[in-house]
Amino acid sequence: RDRAVAPTLTEDDLELDFSLRPKRLDDYLGQTKVKESLGIMIAAAQGRGEPADHILFSGPPGLGKTTLATVVANELGASIRTTSGPAIARTGDLAAILTNLEEGDVLFIDEIHRLNRMVEEVLYPALEDFELDIVVGKGPAARSIRLDLPRFTLIGATTRTGLLTGPLRDRFGVAFRLQYYTPEELSLIVCRSASILNVAIDEEGALEIARRSRGTPRLANRLLKRVRDWAQVRGDGAITEDVAAEALTFFEVDHLGLDAVDNRLLEVLCVQFGGRPVGLTTLASALAEDPDTVEDVYEPYLMQQGLMMRTPKGRQATAGAWEHLGLTPPEGC
Ligand code: ADP
Repeated sequence: RDRAVAPTLTEDDLELDFSLRPKRLDDYLGQTKVKESLGIMIAAAQGRGEPADHILFSGPPGLGKTTLATVVANELGASIRTTSGPAIARTGDLAAILTNLEEGDVLFIDEIHRLNRMVEEVLYPALEDFELDIVVGKGPAARSIRLDLPRFTLIGATTRTGLLTGPLRDRFGVAFRLQYYTPEELSLIVCRSASILNVAIDEEGALEIARRSRGTPRLANRLLKRVRDWAQVRGDGAITEDVAAEALTFFEVDHLGLDAVDNRLLEVLCVQFGGRPVGLTTLASALAEDPDTVEDVYEPYLMQQGLMMRTPKGRQATAGAWEHLGLTPPEGC
């Protein structure tokens, strides 16, 4: 399924992400509070000549967690090693990564909530005391040896902090939750990307793309690219408000940034279940989606837009959802 606003990474995104990724804190737009706090942390660590505290970033996909990790490393003047929770399958994999680090390096673990327990256990003393306990040999001859590790900074990223085990969460010095970007912030990102990609766009055109990008820079960049192609083929190449609106309607991204799947989700709540609360698994199976995807990806934005809510009895559409679908809610909804 080719969704213009699919939250997951596509091959195309990887290239786009790479070429458009800001390198310094000043180029990183939005998330003002987070940036300020990081700026202070970095300056303080540098002043003391010590590695920065371990940092946790949480928030929906595409909001800039990986980007911030590289920005922090750049600002610290440190090298960054990038891996992910699922990629570290065995304790030996983690030991190999840790023993290859150099003093002051940043280790970035994406999807850190997906580390397995055994690996996590090895990570704790590494984070706390920069020590690694490894077992050498097998059976009765097995013995544990302790290695000193260089002092490093771990940056973890996760879609939801609640997915982390308590002990792991406690080992981060600071945790930042990234927020959805405002259309104004996103339009700055669109303008920045357009200038890197050499695309002609005016302010209103950038804002129209921004409004339909679900508060998410990755989507803003992706939609910019789609609109650019459309403008080149159907127009004169320049992106104005009308061009952006027409192109995005063509790509089935509505004025709130919702696409067919989001609208289908709202329809399931309103029409199929008549506005009654619906459990997550029931909702997910009605959409033929994975419950985690529904919870991590679709719901946060729909809730942020005030279109649905989570109640103790289940998921429910709000009056805004009925209105968005052009339907009249039944009495009592
Ligand atoms: P995440 O790790 O949260 O899934 P990424 O860091 O990979 O998200 O961000 C996706 C892309 O969005 C980046 O490559 C970058 O081009 C863009 N981006 C993210 N945050 C910002 C920002 N604050 N300013 C400018 N571009 C951003």
